[in-house]
Amino acid sequence: MRAPLLSLLLAWGSAFAAAPAQVPATAAAVASPLHKQLGEIQEITRINPQRALPMLDKLAAELPTATTGERANFLSLSCIAQYRLGHNERALPLCEEALALGRRHNDEDAIARALLAKAYALFAMNEMAQSHQLVWEAEKLALDSQDRELRIRAMVSSGESYAEDGNFPSALNRIQAAVTQARQSGDPLSIVITLNSLAYLYNQMREHGKAFDALDEAYRAARTLDSPARLATLKNTEYGVAMDSGQLQRGLKVMREELALARQIGADPMIGTALVNLSDCHLKLRNHHAALSYAQQALEHARKRKDEQLIAVARLNIGQAYLAMGRLTEGKKSIEEGMAWYEKSGHKPDLQMMLTEYGDALERAGDYAGAVGAYHRERALSNELFEKRRQKAMLELQEKYEADKRQRQIELLRQENQVKSTEIDNRRLQQRVWWLLATVFALASAIVFMLYRKVRQANAQLEEKNQELKQQSARDPLTGLYNRRHFQEYMRGHQDTERRGAGLNPQGDDMVSALFLLDVDHFKHINDTYGHGAGDAVLREIASGLREILRETDMIVRWGGEEFLAFLPAVPRGGLDEVALRLLSDIPARTIDYQGTQLSVNVSIGFAPFPLTRGAALSWERAVNIVDMALYLAKGHGRNRAYGVRGLKRLDPAALLEVEQDIERARRAGLVDLSVVQGGMPVLRAMS
Ligand code: GH3
Ligand code: MG
Ligand code: MG
Repeated sequence: MRAPLLSLLLAWGSAFAAAPAQVPATAAAVASPLHKQLGEIQEITRINPQRALPMLDKLAAELPTATTGERANFLSLSCIAQYRLGHNERALPLCEEALALGRRHNDEDAIARALLAKAYALFAMNEMAQSHQLVWEAEKLALDSQDRELRIRAMVSSGESYAEDGNFPSALNRIQAAVTQARQSGDPLSIVITLNSLAYLYNQMREHGKAFDALDEAYRAARTLDSPARLATLKNTEYGVAMDSGQLQRGLKVMREELALARQIGADPMIGTALVNLSDCHLKLRNHHAALSYAQQALEHARKRKDEQLIAVARLNIGQAYLAMGRLTEGKKSIEEGMAWYEKSGHKPDLQMMLTEYGDALERAGDYAGAVGAYHRERALSNELFEKRRQKAMLELQEKYEADKRQRQIELLRQENQVKSTEIDNRRLQQRVWWLLATVFALASAIVFMLYRKVRQANAQLEEKNQELKQQSARDPLTGLYNRRHFQEYMRGHQDTERRGAGLNPQGDDMVSALFLLDVDHFKHINDTYGHGAGDAVLREIASGLREILRETDMIVRWGGEEFLAFLPAVPRGGLDEVALRLLSDIPARTIDYQGTQLSVNVSIGFAPFPLTRGAALSWERAVNIVDMALYLAKGHGRNRAYGVRGLKRLDPAALLEVEQDIERARRAGLVDLSVVQGGMPVLRAMS
């Protein structure tokens, strides 16, 4: 039996050791002495992990000042050293710690190294699937790395994992890419490592010629390295290819060379492996004595190193040699001892292979019963393994199915959520649009309302102003009484009504309209003595006096400067003198206080009924002229009195003209009938 294949990963070494001689790939590779030391220890770990441990312990003292990457690498390396020594339970926490450290500091290179270390440890623990996953995870991180050594190592490990998984195309793809990168870098160590891996893969693929070619190139590169350890590794691979391609002599020669190299560098595990392989090789060549001798040397070596597995293999080979020599009892005993370890440690596939070889050997030795026994054991184990594999495959399938299902559910949920959140977004958008519209509408309404109110206010103000203007155009600004223009308009309307036949005194014959024209006596004197302001005040007082004395329906007009005209629409025909008397007495009775002086005035009045004659179409202007004449008479006869026209004797134009031109003469001629009303004591006399 050949030496147990200390996994492929055993063949892997470190590029660290060669770093100083090469152009460093990255700044990290130049790095500190610590980095260099780590590289050297890694190389030693590969050949003799036992020796590496104290060196790692010593290095631990330098860790506090080391970088995160260096600390993580130290931990990863410690993990590798421990699993190489078979201390898997110590190895795993170390790489977990390295992983945590790398993750804490987001150091992808450190994470990749830790993942690889953990993968190697799991591989040693026979956890293939998990190991492969970690390798591929590490590869993803390492592909972007600036560290060439890490990149190449991850690619090679990935390829080897694919090969173990039975996926040779992917394996070849990775490892060839790694070889290409190594060749490009020109680094002989990388070339040796990647080509060794390629040769191993070709051997697995039964492409022995290509495997030897790869090895030839690897040897050429290895010669420039001056590394017996590397050379020994290549020899180990070549041995495998030689044996698998049936070139037993070549295998024997190569293994002898490897043993010599292993002894030269004191690589203990390698010595044991070589001894076992040599015994295996001799067994195949039917050199049973030589086989026994090498197997016994291997047993002794393994016992010293307490390498249980190697002890078991050595025992198996010893047993086979004995069987071949016909020493059945010793042979069987040794083989059973060897297989016991395999049984105990659960290496069932190996056990199955051994049982086959065992059966063959027993058959050759003529122990047919024993051979049948071995055959039955092999069959039982095979069934058990098949069942286990079947179950495992079922479980894996189920797990994969569940995982796929979960993934699909997650995807469905994600899509559902996306749809929902899009719906929510849409609804929100819609709401926002509605709010916006509502706001715009409210604002627009407010503006329209405000504008409407403004227009209304403006209209109202305009109306007010119009009213004011109208009033101003109708009124005298000083006294607030109607002005002359307004009276003219009013009388025009009045005359129209009269012409339509309604008459001016619809109440009956006893009721008449009347015109009273008043003029303030000696008004000039007030102005001259007290100033214009006093005159104005007196005029305002007379105006308000007239409003009180006369009725609301009477129209009072400021006729001129200090002249007032009153139009009384309805007075008893006989009551005109009385009105005149009231005016003559009540106006002087009102006094105003102007700057301490009490002021009051008398007035002179001319008055007449309107129309002056029954049925006579005498215009109001002519009537006013006649009343003015009467006033003139009052002035002429001493003021503070009223002259009223009671009636006209004749209405022919000549008579009317006479009255208008000289009322005194007309009176004497008997053309006009006048009444005189005398005022009380005069309050003001002219100075002049
Ligand atoms: P008589 O008794 O003859 O009527 O004398 P009189 O002084 O009242 O008459 P006259 O016509 O000589 O003077 C009228 C004066 O009235 C002249 C003018 O200055 C004054 N007057 C006219 N309008 C106003 C006015 O609005 N305010 C003031 N303060 N004086 C005015
Ligand atoms: Mg006058
Ligand atoms: Mg006057």
